[in-house]
Amino acid sequence: MRLAVYGKGGIGKSTTSCNISVALAQRGKKVLQIGCDPKHDSTFTLTGFLIPTIIDTLQVKDYHYEDVWPEDVIYRGFNGVDCVEAGGPPAGAGCGGYVVGETVKLLKELNAFDEYDVILFDVLGDVVCGGFAAPLNYADYCLIVTDNGFDALFAANRIAASVREKARTHSLRLAGLIGNRTATRDLIDKYIQTVPIPVLEVLPLIEDIRVSRIKGKTLFEMSTIDPSLEYICDYYLNIADQLIAQPEGVIPKESADRELFTLLSDF
Ligand code: ADP
Ligand code: MG
Repeated sequence: MRLAVYGKGGIGKSTTSCNISVALAQRGKKVLQIGCDPKHDSTFTLTGFLIPTIIDTLQVKDYHYEDVWPEDVIYRGFNGVDCVEAGGPPAGAGCGGYVVGETVKLLKELNAFDEYDVILFDVLGDVVCGGFAAPLNYADYCLIVTDNGFDALFAANRIAASVREKARTHSLRLAGLIGNRTATRDLIDKYIQTVPIPVLEVLPLIEDIRVSRIKGKTLFEMSTIDPSLEYICDYYLNIADQLIAQPEGVIPKESADRELFTLLSDF
C-alpha cells in the first residue's frame, strides 16, 4: 500500500505521518516513510536527527547511482520504520517533482521500493504544481491533513483537484481528511457537505504533540516512558487500522475557488 500525505505547510503532516508510520509498524507492517518536503525534516521524530537527503547524497556521488548503497540513504527509525528524505531542489530553481522522481528511481535501483508493505510519502501541499503532485503517481491513497481554517481547507481543495486529475490514469483514491490541531470542525463539515470526503480522525491541539517535535520522538516512543500518553497514540492507531482495512475512499469533485471563498466565509 502506498500512501501520500498532503496538506498546507506547518499543518502537522510530518507529525501525523511519523505517528501513522509507527502505528502501522506496530500492526506488523514493514514501513518506509519518504519525506518529500524540501524542509527535509519529515522523519525527524522517527530517527531523532536530520538524516542526509537523497539529493545531497547523489550530489556527493556525482550522480553515480551505482555508488550509492542503501545505508547511505535509508535510515532505521523507531519501531523499525525505515526513513528516507528526498531533499529539495535548490531554492528558487529546479523542481520538487524531479527530486521525487530521482528518489523513486534510486530506491528502485537499490531494490528497496518493492520490499515494503507500506510506503508513505509526506508531501507539502500549499501549491500543487506538477512537481508537488508527483508522489500521487506512485500512491494508492492520498490523505489530507487540515485544520478547521480557511487556508488549510483551501489547500485541501487544491489537493483534491490533483487527486481527481491523477485518478483518471491510475487507481488513486482520496482515503480521507485528517483534522489536526483543532477542537472544532464546523468549517471542515461545511466543506465536506459540498465536497464529500471521509474524515478519518480529528485531533485536538495537544501540548505533548508539540513537545514531541522538540524531543525528536514520536508519541509512541514517548509513551514507552509515560503511559499516560497512550490515549494520543490511539488516534494514530485508529487511522492506521482504517487504512489497513483498505477503505473505498473517494475520487473528489473539488469546489471552484470562488465558491470556496463564499462557502467558508461568514458574509
Ligand atoms: P508540517 O509537516 O505539515 O509542516 P509538522 O508536522 O512539522 O508540520 O508540525 C508543525 C508543528 O506543529 C510541530 O511543532 C508539531 O509538533 C506541531 N503539531 C502538529 N500537530 C499537533 C497537534 N495535534 N497538537 C499540537 N501540536 C501539533
Ligand atoms: Mg513536514
